[in-house]
Amino acid sequence: MAEFKTIDKLHRRGLLFILSSPSGAGKTTLSRMLLAADPDIKLSVSATTRPPRPGETDGVHYHFVSDAKFDAMVEEDDFYEWAEVFGYRYGTPKGHIREGLKAGQDYLFDIDWQGTQQLYQKDQQDVVSVFILPPSLPELRRRLEARAQDSDDVIDGRMERARAEISHWAEYDYVVINDNVDECFDRVREVLDAERMRRTRQTGLIPFVRELMG
Ligand code: 5GP
Repeated sequence: MAEFKTIDKLHRRGLLFILSSPSGAGKTTLSRMLLAADPDIKLSVSATTRPPRPGETDGVHYHFVSDAKFDAMVEEDDFYEWAEVFGYRYGTPKGHIREGLKAGQDYLFDIDWQGTQQLYQKDQQDVVSVFILPPSLPELRRRLEARAQDSDDVIDGRMERARAEISHWAEYDYVVINDNVDECFDRVREVLDAERMRRTRQTGLIPFVRELMG
């Protein structure tokens, strides 16, 4: 008799899971929750020319690099995609992502709409994108002020930028409103779980079904 196999053991191609939102809408919290809860997804750590904020660690939250280093990385075609946001540049280093996908590794991306569009252009089949909306703009402002890391001018700039970011909501595969972070997290995990079961990603199905049918 053939050995019993669960679907989890079948080989599947990894996916590029994008969480986007205006800053303050909760995607960083949701990203942390997802990474803590799910060992099969890894954060794609971006490079940025922005200086670290208190509590941020080089190589964990971002690779903090100089303008000259970023120029050199662009020149050497080291990025999957890059964009300028709030006057600083941010980019996704190619690293081992291509090989990782083949081996079944999922990657989480905390990137903006520009990066999302570029990733879609490079690799439509592997991208799954989720947009996180705040419940209201006053609530978004309250959350940004509660972080107390930025001046009023910076918060005004972020609010303006938030409207611009939200205007791209319809370019995403899924949209979740972050009214309650735990409920929002559950929705995000449901999306990830379902996308992992897509027939086209489950490359191990063909040999499995062949054996199943005898
Ligand atoms: P923050 O400075 O608050 O960490 O991020 C500012 C914005 O840059 C966020 O909207 C974030 O999603 C975006 N971002 C971070 N990394 C990347 C990246 O690698 N590529 C792109 N296109 N955007 C990024």
